Amino acid sequence: MQALMMDVPLLVSGILDHAAKYHTDTEVVSAGVGGRITRKTYGEVAARSAQLAHALDAMGIGAGDRVATMAWNSNRHLELYFAVGGSGRVCHTINPRLFPEQIAFILDHADDKAVFVEPMFLPLLETLKDALPKGLAIVVLCEEDELPASGVFPDLVSYEGLIAGRSGTYEWPRLDENEACSLCYTSGTTGNPKGVLYSHRSSVLHAMAIGWVDAIGLSGEDTACLVVPMFHVNAWGLPYACPMMGAKMVMPGANLDGASLRKLFDAEGVTMSAGVPTIWMGLTAHMEDAGATFGTLKRVAVGGSAMPAPLIERMNALGVSVRHAWGMTETSPVGLASALKPKHANLSDEERLTLNAKQGRPLFGMQFRVEGADGSDVPRDAKSYGALLVRGPWVASRYFGSDSESPSFRADGWFETGDVVTIDPDGYVQIVDRTKDVIKSGGEWISSIELENVATGHPAVKEAAVVARTDDKWGERPVLFLVVKDGRQAPTADDIRSFYEGKVARWCIPDDVRIVDALPHTATGKLRKTDIRDML
Ligand code: ADP
Repeated sequence: MQALMMDVPLLVSGILDHAAKYHTDTEVVSAGVGGRITRKTYGEVAARSAQLAHALDAMGIGAGDRVATMAWNSNRHLELYFAVGGSGRVCHTINPRLFPEQIAFILDHADDKAVFVEPMFLPLLETLKDALPKGLAIVVLCEEDELPASGVFPDLVSYEGLIAGRSGTYEWPRLDENEACSLCYTSGTTGNPKGVLYSHRSSVLHAMAIGWVDAIGLSGEDTACLVVPMFHVNAWGLPYACPMMGAKMVMPGANLDGASLRKLFDAEGVTMSAGVPTIWMGLTAHMEDAGATFGTLKRVAVGGSAMPAPLIERMNALGVSVRHAWGMTETSPVGLASALKPKHANLSDEERLTLNAKQGRPLFGMQFRVEGADGSDVPRDAKSYGALLVRGPWVASRYFGSDSESPSFRADGWFETGDVVTIDPDGYVQIVDRTKDVIKSGGEWISSIELENVATGHPAVKEAAVVARTDDKWGERPVLFLVVKDGRQAPTADDIRSFYEGKVARWCIPDDVRIVDALPHTATGKLRKTDIRDML
């Protein structure tokens, strides 16, 4: 029997409408070049998004066409999300830190009709001139009188010039909620980047879910600082969730060092923030060195790579709680979050920290399986390793514009995440490793992540990476690369090995320890293991 309920599509324009009507004067604060602060309200962002949508119509950009951004977090980037997606086009966020060849590949593969670019990335686009899609319109994210001169692109227009004088209201189309609203490419650590095409429905559902108290958690009382870039899996959905919940938004722009973030957090009264572990490593070190405490900051969400337990503990000591979340570009991204349960109240501090450092338990809506080598589910004993499979309403069903089906999207409907994990009786998942990074030694598996996490607990260690070296006897053995903290004496290999004693099984302890000045990272701040293997 069919139900008798209204059929109202879940659209991103609905989020904007809601914020404009009921959180009209809540602010969106953007820090620009040189710390210049721009203040807009949701009411103004909605009007400016309408102006931009009219401009896109005037530019002749059609329904379903892709519009690229190469931009920091700002109110303009937020307006692009809503104007492009809301009007039935596809907002394609590009990570400007990718290799130039990858950027050219992505612009071409997505067949972008326009790119909205920060002035500082214009020289990069100029070097790619011959590889850009034909007829690509270039709009520079600046005031009319700030438009840079370009010998390569004669037809540049400024963002403010483009939207000026247009109507601040727009009839957002009633789209099918399964139409696309945004596109994001994976960082492509192996092979070319792959495009994930999000729908209005998946974006709205995911934004609702991350707002839950046991997920990232957001309310109208929050001031949220989006440290995670809007080109990194849609800043984990926060550009949709903040206006949905009515949280004030703070956009830090390009300055993400500890001192700049602390200043911004204090000035704007930031209560919650989200970013990768590297960011919190920098901020925590800054706060500790300065002997400072946080004013309003209460909690941070962290993901993208594992947050080492010692760092969680240091942030807790500064009065900030840490919510670990797991996700991928293919999963919108958030699928797991490490909220505890009432029964955990009696755990010791150490046990609670261990649980908090896991990737978390499934959010409602997302289904997970942990599959053993024989294809059956592994026991939920927090010990047995298996491959993590996922499916759900905000998980990709295939890649955008790919000629061949990727084997990661299985015929049985599950997506292979490429993560090797354990799962406990309550569903808390812990990543042991990426399938391709786990070290296979003498028939046993060694988690590179576990070894890295232990090493970063050593007082002299700033950052650690573990990769496999081939070994005649064992097949593979772990090699530990270390970056030493500024002003600290480099530890000896023996110091490090004794530091591991009692923390991991003896045969897992790396026998090869190498001190390096720096470690290579991907465009989203993760260790670039392929390059680290080359360093061997
Ligand atoms: P890419 O795969 O292109 O590097 P993603 O952001 O999609 O970019 O990366 C997804 C992967 O990042 C996950 O499969 C997992 O290995 C890792 N990851 C994400 N969140 C966490 C987390 N909280 N802890 C540990 N690893 C994580």
